[in-house]
Amino acid sequence: MTKSITEIDNLFINGKWVAPEGGNEAIINPATEEVIGLAPLASMSNVDAAITAAHYAFNHGPWPSMTMTERADVMNCMAEALEARQEEIVNLIIAEVGCAQGITRMMQVANPINHLRSTIKYALRDEPERLPLDITPNPFAPDGPKNIGGTTVVHEPFGVVSAITGYNFPFLLNLAKIGPALMAGCTMVLKPSPFTPYSALLFGWIAEEIDLPEGVLNIVTGGIEEGQLLCTDERVDMVTFTGSEGVGATIMEQAAPTLKKVHLELGGKSAMIVREDADVERAAAMAVGFLSVNAGQGCAIPTRFLVHNSIRPTFVAVASAVAAQINIGNARDPIVTMGPLIRESQRSKVEEYIELGKSAGANLVCGGGRPSHLDKGFFTQLTLFDNVTNDMKIAQDEIFGPVGCIIGFETDEEAVKIANDSRYGLNGAIETADAATGYEMANRIRAGSVSLNGGTGTMSFAPIGGYKRSGIGREYGPNWIREYQQEKSIFYPVGH
Ligand code: NAD
Repeated sequence: MTKSITEIDNLFINGKWVAPEGGNEAIINPATEEVIGLAPLASMSNVDAAITAAHYAFNHGPWPSMTMTERADVMNCMAEALEARQEEIVNLIIAEVGCAQGITRMMQVANPINHLRSTIKYALRDEPERLPLDITPNPFAPDGPKNIGGTTVVHEPFGVVSAITGYNFPFLLNLAKIGPALMAGCTMVLKPSPFTPYSALLFGWIAEEIDLPEGVLNIVTGGIEEGQLLCTDERVDMVTFTGSEGVGATIMEQAAPTLKKVHLELGGKSAMIVREDADVERAAAMAVGFLSVNAGQGCAIPTRFLVHNSIRPTFVAVASAVAAQINIGNARDPIVTMGPLIRESQRSKVEEYIELGKSAGANLVCGGGRPSHLDKGFFTQLTLFDNVTNDMKIAQDEIFGPVGCIIGFETDEEAVKIANDSRYGLNGAIETADAATGYEMANRIRAGSVSLNGGTGTMSFAPIGGYKRSGIGREYGPNWIREYQQEKSIFYPVGH
């Protein structure tokens, strides 16, 4: 009988399944509160063994010195193996995260596999760069013949990488670390969120299926202490992290004494600007659609809606009507369009922010409570506040739930100013009938990406990342692999 992913009860270290010394931990489905599996819990010595394996594989294994084409062959097998398990992974995400089926199928599972394909494609274009010949006087014999020399810039794997990820798009986040790091020739220890261990452990099966050399990918579990070790051990060269702003700052601090490279993908409080000439009904429906994605648990979701004052009443009315149509429940049911928050702790945080919004004087236009038809699971209603001012806490902090703030404006200038008045800078959106003006405004938004009129473009090939406190570095796009490479210049004489 074939095992299901939630029956994985060991850690994956040095190409083998290893018994967890920390015992196990019950993982629950946030929609039902039922236990979906007893996940292996790593001890500090399990994490240490994983670092030892990654370090050995980097220094003595074949992976870092294989050619890009050889690694691409293996990683293409990874993409195929994941594609073959796509439906199984979709079902896992529904159980682990509670995310609605459509979003899960497309954004949580299919897109990440496309990203893996795109990183392989881009990596195969990675060629040493030959710089123009340079003629310089001989410093030791200035009157003698000049020197002529050339330089070639080569890219080498960065080293041993610790990858630490959050819970909201767990398969995507894990694969977004594994794909480029392994393509670059690095070795890795991956530690997922304690809420979603299976979306990482499944890569142990994949590594076995594709014969990944031992020690190249190691998967451990655990929480803060285990994560700390991954950021402090001197054998680790780089930490790549996706998670919250606060933990990102702690990770930098932890990695500082050993001067590791730190790559951070953090939170956001993105603004969607709805100009006076925009299709307001469409914009309002889109705003609600964004908030419903994974119950607002998405880093790049626009959660501040900057709406021209002349159309704000229509926006509020349409958005409230659309919000009433959201089907909240267990995503096992295909008609469900919004699932739960991950845990009770996250729901309490969201509810505290809703209270803060009310007491600050914002106008609650819909939601604000728990759906009455669901007595189990960490559900919350889709909530919209109008008359929000950008200095309110609900407009400044990442709530990480389906809570939107509607803020009025009069001029484009003011809208851009409000959009940029945030410590985050992850994403943005502009809705307008005047695409050229929208494009000019997009250039003035201090964020790693901006969608104009709902544009999605070639997402699998575009770089994504944060300005300001939304992160350091980029994922995806042509230079993705560079995050995991060292650049080396080799100088040589050509003649005299
Ligand atoms: P989190 O920061 O609470 O946890 C993320 C990971 O960090 C977990 O694996 C956790 O165990 C680990 N961790 C916690 N303390 C640590 C420490 N001191 N040292 C090392 N590891 C430690 O994040 P979360 O709640 O799981 O995820 C949600 C957050 O992630 C949101 O802020 C969201 O915006 C962000 N996010 C960002 C992106 C992006 O691409 N920018 C994508 C998805 C999620």
